[in-house]
Amino acid sequence: MNYWRAIHFAFNAFFAHTSRLFIGIEQDQLPMTLPAETMDTLAPQDEQIWDFNDSANLYGVRDWGADYFDINSAGEAIIRVPNGSGTIEVPIIEVVEAMRLRGLEMPAVLRVENLLDHRISAINEAFANAIASAGYNNEYRGVFPIKVNQQCHVVEEIADYGARYHHGLEAGSKAELIIALTQLKDRHSLIICNGYKDQEFIELGLYARKMGINCFFVLETLGELDIIIERSEALGIEPAIGARIRLSSMVEGHWNEDSGDRSIFGLSTDSLLCVVDKLRAHNMLHCMQMLHCHLGSQIPNIRNIRSGVLEACRYYTGLVAEGAAMGYIDLGGGLAVDYEGRRTNETHSMNYGLNEYCANIIETLQESLDSEDVPHPVVITESGRALVAYSSMLLFNILDVRDHKPGKLPETIPDEGHDLIHNLRAVLDAVELKNLQECYNDALYYRDEVREQFHRGQASLRERATAENLGLAIFEKISALLPAAKRVSAELDDLPALLADIYYGNFSLFQSLPDIWAIDQIFPVMPIHRLNEEPTRQAVLADITCDCDGKIDHFCYEGDIHRTLPLHPLNDEGEYYLGVFLVGAYQETLGDLHNLFGDTNVVSVHVNEDGSFDFRREFHGDSIADVLSYVEYEPKNMLEQFRRNAEQAVRDGRISVAMRQEMLQAFRASLYGYTFFER
Ligand SMILES: *Cc1c(COP(=O)(O)O)cnc(C)c1O
Repeated sequence: MNYWRAIHFAFNAFFAHTSRLFIGIEQDQLPMTLPAETMDTLAPQDEQIWDFNDSANLYGVRDWGADYFDINSAGEAIIRVPNGSGTIEVPIIEVVEAMRLRGLEMPAVLRVENLLDHRISAINEAFANAIASAGYNNEYRGVFPIKVNQQCHVVEEIADYGARYHHGLEAGSKAELIIALTQLKDRHSLIICNGYKDQEFIELGLYARKMGINCFFVLETLGELDIIIERSEALGIEPAIGARIRLSSMVEGHWNEDSGDRSIFGLSTDSLLCVVDKLRAHNMLHCMQMLHCHLGSQIPNIRNIRSGVLEACRYYTGLVAEGAAMGYIDLGGGLAVDYEGRRTNETHSMNYGLNEYCANIIETLQESLDSEDVPHPVVITESGRALVAYSSMLLFNILDVRDHKPGKLPETIPDEGHDLIHNLRAVLDAVELKNLQECYNDALYYRDEVREQFHRGQASLRERATAENLGLAIFEKISALLPAAKRVSAELDDLPALLADIYYGNFSLFQSLPDIWAIDQIFPVMPIHRLNEEPTRQAVLADITCDCDGKIDHFCYEGDIHRTLPLHPLNDEGEYYLGVFLVGAYQETLGDLHNLFGDTNVVSVHVNEDGSFDFRREFHGDSIADVLSYVEYEPKNMLEQFRRNAEQAVRDGRISVAMRQEMLQAFRASLYGYTFFER
């Protein structure tokens, strides 16, 4: 099987290569003299056949993949599961094939349990190492913020596997607290309650403490404290209280408003002191045990983390001096994921690694607290993104491609032809490196002039088509020369993106990748097979919603942000599959039902020692009936209405009874089928 596939890929690679050369010769549009650099990129690279290493470099998988993803010599994207001293490799395409045999069609979210487990271990062990090597006098306790991925299987796995590290859960609402109370079985794990808390929420948390669960209330506002004091006195249960403070240390990145004076979360310094005074007045200062802060999510710069921790230490020390019991410091989330693989302090990247993060926190705490003789507290972090992002990927097939190649150009234009078309032809012949902008301006002007005349009835449909084709041919020629040009205007810079192919993917951005739409998040995107072939097309990705925002047109590869992604032309061999990686955090539940595309299929696999994998969970995505009922339609009534219409048509003699049956069958199949494109 693999042997045949290897041959197949070698063939494809060969043909992709030759067909490119062929086009290069046939088009005969290239200027006769080209600057040396352009020659290099357009010249045949005889012996060099594109292989998987070229793809790995192009798509940057070894930079953003954190060793969990790579490409094998058969040109397939693989999942690499760490296993003791070695690794186990699984080609993603094999999982896709296995999914399809089980009726799980694309698009689908693939979760890999082992990767989630490995992240839990990695974070806990990195903190344990930092603590050991610094000689810090207390321990680390992680908690997973449920809001980052509430899916039952994810939380269950974190609770089960995480028990060996006493990894707990963070809840920001009553619903999440109910999840935490039922999923956590390890008595040493913590439950941290953030968010606004009403009486019910507080009672639930107090009962949990009574049952021996280590559940903390983190005060977001002063108002909550009165309910906590009142309920705990009434029920006779002592609460464990933390105070969330508003750090003034500012951070870079998208979430910089989670900290600072205007943050909507946390107590001001004055309110914090009111809390202390009130607890003291009720003889409850010993219940004040934790300081909490959260600088924001995806903090790309380690300097911000260090200064935030330092400020938090000063608060902690201040509370100890006030006589509060303390013992825990919770530094919130923020540990970033390098979606771009560039290791910079840009929004979707990070300029530090996991070990550095842990060492920075532990050393800063130690230095700062030692100087005041304050005993070291238990260190808590609430990493969400860094824990779950790697374990999920979105997989989908490409349904169609629209290219922007010019149609057939006329060999010659008759003398009596349209003047403007003669002009366009002349511009096409005139394009060279030194007049790119000029030719661009002229082409645009003449083409638009023809469109204008068409409007007024002075140019024919065929003349308009010829003008548009010539315009495209000119743009193409300009675009090919751009890499050699020294300085290029913004509009010329945009040209390649405007000429890029549109690849229509079988997915909904709004359902599966909401952060691309909402906050211009960048995720790594890569084909999961054919990676021994050179990707010869430049593409943007469009989803199948009817929304012009439903597209992906920002990609990070080769160390830079690009507006197009190199992809392979579709062929007759079968489906072309792409993967969007690192989507385990925040994407699944924020997604919506735009155009009534529902939840996708989801599978969780566990990779075994021998490289086989088990389907631990399968979740069939929403049917059309499901999404219709979410917006208050009643699928049964709809079926009945359709039946009545069909019956009426039989009565009117428009269709036969047999046809009625066929139509009802088709209607029912659609109604109870997948909301996405089915082949
Ligand atoms: C969202 C959130 C987190 C998770 O942040 P990540 O950057 O995903 O680690 C942690 N704590 C609080 C209070 C949050 O609101």
